[in-house]
Amino acid sequence: MSVVLRQPTLQVPEPLRPLVDLAFNLRWSWEDATQELFRRIDPAGWESLGDPVRLLGALPASRLEALVADEEFVAKLREVHAGLEDYLSAPSWFQGRGGTMLRSVAYFSPEFGLTEGLPQYSGGLGVLAGDHLKAASGLGVPLVAVGLLYRSGYFRQRLEYHGWQREAYPSLDPEEMALRLVDGVRVDIELADVPVVAQVWKAEVGRVPLYLLDTDVPYNDEHARRVTDALYSGDVDHRIRQEIFLGMGGVRALEALGESPNVFHSNEGHAGFLALERLGRLIVGEGLSFDEAVERVRVGTVFTTHTPVAAGIDRFPRPLMERYFGRWTERCGIPFDTLMALGQAPGEGRDAAFNMAYMALRLSARANGVSMLHGQVSRSMFAPLWPGRSADEVPISSVTNGVHGRSWVSPEMHGLLQRYVSPKWAEADSWEGIDETPDEELWAVRAAGRQRLVSFVRRRLAATPGAGGSAISPDWVEGVMDPNALTIGFARRFAAYKRATLLMQHPERLKALLNTPDRPVQIIFSGKAHPADEQGKHMIRELVEFARDPQVRARMAFIEDFDIGVARMLYQGSDVWLNNPWRPLEACGTSGQKAALNAVLNCSILDGWWAEMYEPAVGWAIPSAEDVGDPTERNRRESQSLLDIVEHELIPLFYERDASGLPRRWLRRMKNALRLLGPRVNAHRMVREYVERMYEPALALERPVPAPGA
Ligand SMILES: *Cc1c(COP(=O)(O)O)cnc(C)c1O
Repeated sequence: MSVVLRQPTLQVPEPLRPLVDLAFNLRWSWEDATQELFRRIDPAGWESLGDPVRLLGALPASRLEALVADEEFVAKLREVHAGLEDYLSAPSWFQGRGGTMLRSVAYFSPEFGLTEGLPQYSGGLGVLAGDHLKAASGLGVPLVAVGLLYRSGYFRQRLEYHGWQREAYPSLDPEEMALRLVDGVRVDIELADVPVVAQVWKAEVGRVPLYLLDTDVPYNDEHARRVTDALYSGDVDHRIRQEIFLGMGGVRALEALGESPNVFHSNEGHAGFLALERLGRLIVGEGLSFDEAVERVRVGTVFTTHTPVAAGIDRFPRPLMERYFGRWTERCGIPFDTLMALGQAPGEGRDAAFNMAYMALRLSARANGVSMLHGQVSRSMFAPLWPGRSADEVPISSVTNGVHGRSWVSPEMHGLLQRYVSPKWAEADSWEGIDETPDEELWAVRAAGRQRLVSFVRRRLAATPGAGGSAISPDWVEGVMDPNALTIGFARRFAAYKRATLLMQHPERLKALLNTPDRPVQIIFSGKAHPADEQGKHMIRELVEFARDPQVRARMAFIEDFDIGVARMLYQGSDVWLNNPWRPLEACGTSGQKAALNAVLNCSILDGWWAEMYEPAVGWAIPSAEDVGDPTERNRRESQSLLDIVEHELIPLFYERDASGLPRRWLRRMKNALRLLGPRVNAHRMVREYVERMYEPALALERPVPAPGA
């Protein structure tokens, strides 16, 4: 069945029709020729909007007419469009795999981070999902993705003068984004006896379709329309309503769309109700017993857990479950306690809250954490579900996250990698060629990124009076940051365990380091705290207040309203990427991988991916003081260790220059990092592992993994 899409409101003259295809396929976001084409249409508009759909929407008719008359442009357009068609149809890695049982994968995620123009993510989990789709597209893996369309996205961050975070919830217009409404498909669900419907939008991510459910339709009452209002918003009642739509609604949407995946992959537990939907169908529709249905649902179901932090896992109280699933259990003819037990650990008691991760583990054939260390932590954490087994024997493996290279490296670095590694560097298994790069060339790439970052910081500070302070004079902002100084980046969600303020446990020492004579250090921060996270908001305020000090303000900045665009600027422009979580709470951490592909050196606690990929030749490991029981003392010590590294290793090595002004030993490390980390941190490696180690084995019935105990 082919899906009928509503025509976009965007209208262009007939000869320019291929532009619409190019704008609505997000492949443009990682493809040079397409970006070049859009830049050519309106260079200034491209710089400010950075998004083809908005660009075309804002174009005056006279410009469109001029393009039609521009033969050279039209010829180029045809060529670029043919490139897209080739990409969409060419066989790739997956097509070369004989005898696979994999028909298609349905990939469910509560958030997707694909481009700044589609703000449907809060952080690493969503961006990872976006990178998974992009890499799956490149590898030709048959995959269809499912999520929700949040009408306000996450939130936009504004800082008050003293750095207190305020949240704004803009109303996004799907018609202005790279989304098209699917005609004639609607999803009906009863939420506590109230019928609610959703419409479905489609985004194209190369060859991978992404379907987003949206309850903001006239049929629904006000309450129902708000189900998909914003990501990670509201109370527990709101969350369960969203998750029912994501999981159960998602399965119904796939059916209505004519998709018949045989693998269901739940990216984190929020989409876990997808398994209940399938369970109910087998019991009611095919007459299977509950136990038989559980066994059937597990086949082909894959669950990836992303966090050892309790707050990251949804737990729904029993009365809430009763409200939304009481009828469901009646229809299935099973006792309500049987459903609850799916989300409870043995011995917890019948009133324990329903844990989405427990259910997901019970209803999947394969489960994994997102780094080797996180796999190990997860096996211990979930061991109570398998009574009588030691943690080692808990069937949770790991697939270390990776990142979609072309989406994150600078144009200069892309060119360099093409020249010295391989024209298809993102898929190359060996990066040995990087050692041939002349130092001058690599340093020029770094300098270009740093310069761009410094200009960006100045522009943003000048434009956002909140963080910079309205008292700031423009000439002052002009002097913020130094394009030649050692630049440290730190940007991610401001969750407490990520410890954005670790550096500031010793403020005087930090201040002195920032102002080391002739060898300055500068640090750029960015990130949002969840609206309910007071601790995270306090951390932001602490940083902003500290950066206000006249002795510090030229060397430390906080960039408001973190998003993919800010992130990219930081990954491409920093010299060092800082990551100092409370070990082992960072399941993987992918920002350091994106930095690494830009030859930015990681300085990190040995947590997540860094715990398995660190070696002295590629960066620095901040010692963690896990033996210290008192958290304040532990923070103090780890902060001290971090500042020691900055003072005794980063500063001397970065400023050690030869006669030609190059930091030869620093450059050696940059090349080491590219050579040794490049092939391992990319998402193509990750998606191949998911296919070979998770998806295909989840379909093989011969060796079912033992189910958790009841
Ligand atoms: C990669 C990425 C992250 C993840 O950062 P961590 O260090 O893994 O927490 C968060 N936000 C954005 C926008 C990203 O691109």
